[in-house]
Amino acid sequence: RQEQFRALRDVEPITKDGHRIRLQMNAGLLVDLPQLADSGADGIGLFRTELQFMIASTMPKSEEQEAFYRNVLRQAAGMPVTFRTLDIGGDKVVSYFRAQEEENPALGWRAIRLSLDRPGLLRTQLRALLKASAGAELRMMLPMVTEVQEIRAVRELMQKEVQHLSKFGHHLPKKLQFGAMLEVPALMWQLDELMDEVDFVSVGSNDLFQFSMAVDRGNARVSDRFDILGRPFLRILRDIVRAGDRHKTPVTLCGEMASKPLSAMALIGVGFRSISMSPTSIGPVKAMLLGLEAEKLSVELNAALDDHHSLVPVRELLVRFAADN
Ligand code: PEP
Ligand code: MG
Repeated sequence: RQEQFRALRDVEPITKDGHRIRLQMNAGLLVDLPQLADSGADGIGLFRTELQFMIASTMPKSEEQEAFYRNVLRQAAGMPVTFRTLDIGGDKVVSYFRAQEEENPALGWRAIRLSLDRPGLLRTQLRALLKASAGAELRMMLPMVTEVQEIRAVRELMQKEVQHLSKFGHHLPKKLQFGAMLEVPALMWQLDELMDEVDFVSVGSNDLFQFSMAVDRGNARVSDRFDILGRPFLRILRDIVRAGDRHKTPVTLCGEMASKPLSAMALIGVGFRSISMSPTSIGPVKAMLLGLEAEKLSVELNAALDDHHSLVPVRELLVRFAADN
């Protein structure tokens, strides 16, 4: 089967009824980069920059960060790369970064919260990203955003870095694409402001599922208790896609669920046209969508999501659809 998927590498990911789906891959280290060409992915939809910090024994210096990003972009050879700013804390431990013991680390001082409280750290990273992307496009996004105001605060720091660099004669990126991850349920009630604030939104379904169902993603005893393909979560995802459509803001998803053909199918069913997954999933997901009637699926799935009386699990419907079509 691996061979069969390899043969799909150069086949364009278009559904049977003609929808082009962007299939990107997730990465975080240089060893991941060769998989970009090997898998035939459309780019890197999530580059987890904290990995460089997690494998180092001391804080990577500004020049090391810049060199690393430059290297990533060189190896990506013109394919788009979306860098996520540091997502330290929670399940992502950086040993030399002494944070206080927390009772609920997932809900604690992490990601964008930590970056905003340590603006020196964030500005160093922003500067490294700007310098590494000189003359090219810089795509970046913020993890664990809770309020739209946090995005504005980072944008202001970004503007300061841009001014600083241009004052000293540095080349700047020729285009900046500034995005946010949607991982915290509070953003569901700020969707209109959010979509107007950013160039794109990427759903972090691992965390969004964890927080919306109140189940620890690292605790199998509870994390498998509720179905990610159940009505509540699929309705959440559908609302996000609809808000993106209303505001013409591109929406994508980069959590683990994009890596499984059945859940990737459900994502297309609720309207996603772009997803990012582990590189080994590009082949299997592409094989699924080549035979998919996306519009027919959407009609059936939307009916199931709008049905307030049915007790039939949506997963059953999806499995049946996949088998019959
Ligand atoms: C997510 O939360 O879905 C995500 C993509 O980010 P991470 O898994 O790195 O938290
Ligand atoms: Mg996350």
